[in-house]
This record gives sequence, C-alpha cells and structure tokens, in this order.
Amino acid sequence: MERSANRLIDHTKLVPGMYIASINGDVTVYELRFCRPNKGPFLTVEAQHTLSHLYEQILENIDERNAVLWFGASASCSGFYMVCRSIAHSDAIAMVSQATELIANWDKEIPGVSAKECSDIERHDLISAKKWAQMFISKVKNITQDMLVYPC
Ligand SMILES: [Zn+2]
Repeated sequence: MERSANRLIDHTKLVPGMYIASINGDVTVYELRFCRPNKGPFLTVEAQHTLSHLYEQILENIDERNAVLWFGASASCSGFYMVCRSIAHSDAIAMVSQATELIANWDKEIPGVSAKECSDIERHDLISAKKWAQMFISKVKNITQDMLVYPC
C-alpha cells in the first residue's frame, strides 16, 4: 500500500500557514495550518468548532463565485481544510485572509448555534477562536503563492 500524500510532508519543517494539500483537475484542497506539528499549542475542540462555524458562514457570504465546496477541521486539531473548485490560488489566499480578519474582529453571536443547526451547542469558545484568528491573520496576510507548497 502506498503512503498517503499527507505522510510525505516533513512535519518537522511545517509551520503555521496556508498550503495546497492536493489538486485534482479544477478542485484544490487547501490546508489552513494553525499549529506547529508536535509542538502545540493545539486548537481546543471548542475553539476549532467555533472557528468552523465562523469560517463556513463568512466564506459562504464572501465567496461570490461559489468556489468553496467544503470547509472542515483537521483530525489533529491543528487547523482546517478548504476544498475549492476553479479558483486562482491568489483568490483563495485573499478569501481566507478576509475571512480570518473578520473572525479576529467578530463582535456578534457565533452563527449557527442552535439545537437545530449544530450537533454540539455546548462546545464553543468564541474568545479562544478570535485569539487563534488574530494569530493566523499575521501568517495568512504575508502568504504568497510560492509559499503554498509543503516542505518536504
Ligand atoms: Zn456546530
């Protein structure tokens, strides 16, 4: 059995930022890496959950061309994956940057937190989510297309 693409990334060199996880035709999977592997601090489940709600809501509103097919958390609590169709990398970076900035300054309720819309309404942490967004905005604002490649 071949090793998965994720196992070929040198996790000792990986730093917070945005990366291309895979490209298949016109579909690109981006990783939004918030945490350094094996060093921490890692996202709590609560912060990750709140960030997921905020990114989903905000991306849905700013994604005028409906390029984002899916947005979700990584299993290792180290960030997120964003699946896009027919998008320029520069536009993906700009959209993530804009969404992250809006989250860092969010002063409203967490979107979608009702028993009808969410599967765990108790596990949210807006304060922590905003702190993580403030950290990530400093990374994503300086990302250029050549920085989207994983270290190997
Ligand atoms: Zn939820």
